[in-house]
Amino acid sequence: MSFRATVLTLYPEMFPGALGLSLAGRALEAGTWSLETLQIRDFATDRHRTVDDTPAGGGAGMVMRADILARAIDAASPAGDLRPRLLMSPRGKPLTQARVRELAAGPGAVILCGRFEGVDQRVIEARALEEVSVGDYILSGGEVAAHVLLDAVVRLLPGVMGNEASGEEESFENGLLEHPHYTRPQDFEGRPIPDVLISGNHAKIARWRHAEAEKLTAERRPDLLAKPAQPVAK
Ligand code: SAH
Repeated sequence: MSFRATVLTLYPEMFPGALGLSLAGRALEAGTWSLETLQIRDFATDRHRTVDDTPAGGGAGMVMRADILARAIDAASPAGDLRPRLLMSPRGKPLTQARVRELAAGPGAVILCGRFEGVDQRVIEARALEEVSVGDYILSGGEVAAHVLLDAVVRLLPGVMGNEASGEEESFENGLLEHPHYTRPQDFEGRPIPDVLISGNHAKIARWRHAEAEKLTAERRPDLLAKPAQPVAK
């Protein structure tokens, strides 16, 4: 069964966008995953197809209405749909490689993209939306965040990455940032490739790479070392 993504958005023309190219695009064409978009405006009830209104309590900006979003979510994800319902949101749990792996192992995802100031709190509660953040900064809408999430998930689907092994040594997979990479030429502006990498001694190379990964992680992301290593779900 292939991974099924349904995206609820005011800008369906943003999809597949970057997800239609390269690895993700080829996998989409091959049917390894599917992508459906729903225009949230189609679930509005007035002549102007309004989806937002002024915030209760006052203040700047507009808020997406709970009733209209609920109708869109119910259409996208009827009872019995086992896919998680995600809301892209800067208030959400920061997305991790571990969560990406879980999603990739599941049936798909229903993804709601916010706009304006965000969405009415009541629909988050009433439809049990899981808020997911892609980082501590504010985007203008959830669509680009949804691209990030789907790109990370799709590359893990079976058969998508040419060399399956390349997924396992990557940054975050073993709680470490990845070791540095080198390729030809042997000498670049007076900087040679480290000797160990051309030694042909695979055990030594593996030890060197692990040591480099630990050093880099300690320097740049000591917070990762403080955490117990994430088990790699297989
Ligand atoms: N007023 C909100 C930000 C709204 S930004 C706040 O301060 O929390 C508009 C929409 O962009 C959000 O509803 C969300 O869907 C999306 N978005 C913005 N930043 C995001 C992030 N870091 N991660 C995921 N989604 C984000």
